[in-house]
Amino acid sequence: MPRLSYWERQSFFSNIDVLIIGSGIVGLSTAIHLKESNPKLQVVIIERGVLPIGASTRNAGFACFGSMTELIDDLSTQSEAEVFGIVEKRWKGLKALRSKLSDKQLDYKEWGGYEVFTNSDIDSYKQCLAEMSHLNNRLKEIIGTSMVYQKSDNNINTFGFDQTKHLIVNTQEGQINTGMMMKGLLEIATTAGVKIYNGIEIADWETHSNGVTVSTKDEWTIDASKLVVATNAFTTKLFPTIQVTPARNQVLITKPIPNLKVKGCFHYDKGYVYFRNIDERILLGGARNVDLQNENTDEFGDNKKIDAVLSNLLKEVILPNQPFEIDQKWSGILGVGESKRPIIKKAAQNIYVAVRLGGMGVAIGYGVGADAAKLVLSN
Ligand SMILES: Cc1cc2nc3c(=O)[nH]c(=O)nc-3n(C[C@H](O)[C@H](O)[C@H](O)COP(=O)(O)OP(=O)(O)OC[C@H]3O[C@@H](n4cnc5c(N)ncnc54)[C@H](O)[C@@H]3O)c2cc1C
Repeated sequence: MPRLSYWERQSFFSNIDVLIIGSGIVGLSTAIHLKESNPKLQVVIIERGVLPIGASTRNAGFACFGSMTELIDDLSTQSEAEVFGIVEKRWKGLKALRSKLSDKQLDYKEWGGYEVFTNSDIDSYKQCLAEMSHLNNRLKEIIGTSMVYQKSDNNINTFGFDQTKHLIVNTQEGQINTGMMMKGLLEIATTAGVKIYNGIEIADWETHSNGVTVSTKDEWTIDASKLVVATNAFTTKLFPTIQVTPARNQVLITKPIPNLKVKGCFHYDKGYVYFRNIDERILLGGARNVDLQNENTDEFGDNKKIDAVLSNLLKEVILPNQPFEIDQKWSGILGVGESKRPIIKKAAQNIYVAVRLGGMGVAIGYGVGADAAKLVLSN
């Protein structure tokens, strides 16, 4: 790209109060909360993709806050206060998102989230039954609903699954249309006056006493008073000291299936695999545990080994008696780390990061944006 002209710099990239890198759910939510707190702030988002190309437009749209096996696993290494503190953040985050964008705008459907147990998961199933009433009591304190988790074996035939021994349902789990969520957040941000520029990749930054200067891949320089880094899985490239590990996930979707019996969100193989119904189709993704080494990357792309596992699962477990065709495939990149808590902090003078959203960014993303905006405004 050619150098910025005087006019371009003056009209598009001057007097920026807060510059945000990344227009995923966190970048957009941070911008929205900043503008709501102070409409006069000049808030600009720089996004390298034509669309936000990371996780927010590529995920599975589960509006979830924790399956039983995940919570039990987390409780084996963390305190109850830590584990249920995170669950509460997810639950409240979902409520806030649903009140900002109505259930209609999100296409939110509370059809339940099911954990699928096969022959090899019997020990884990027994452990879930043993812990069920304790977890339900803790969740009642957060959600206000009794018996959030319930046995649901009667649904194995209803959904038409094979090789499935048990199902446990989370009655409060829902699903959204991810594209509608992101389109809605983009509209709110632009209506509030946030300027979003796409196709620009930030390569470096420099902080100084009265602000920040970022340089782009094309050697433009842009000044701002403050900088928010909302680049999730891609953060370490800009900030090597901030540890976010990229985790690629493969996703596929079938063509519409007449009389599809599957309805809800499903967690399989300790949560590594997830699937749901959408528009009479099955969306299926994950299985990165099959090839962890190759999937620990921030490069988009296919993985034939995982493809084969997912296709096989469709044929043998999810749709054993129904013909289907795979329509589309894509990948998305998660940002994970040792803790399930996101990193929201001041990382340098005038620079803030809001990253490492993990696998439940739909639930926490809007709240992470609120917390990031608060931090920026208070410092
Ligand atoms: C396949 C998949 C399925 C998932 N399923 C679910 C689910 O069902 N439920 C759920 O709650 N969560 C799910 N997640 C997780 C959730 O999508 C993420 O946690 C969340 O979207 C992260 O949002 P973010 O804004 O932090 O990051 P992102 O959406 O990744 O946004 C970061 C943005 O920064 C931009 N960027 C990066 N570097 C630069 C740079 N140098 N210059 C300019 N721009 C840059 C990227 O292009 C990107 O648009 C899933 C994730 C994936 C990948």
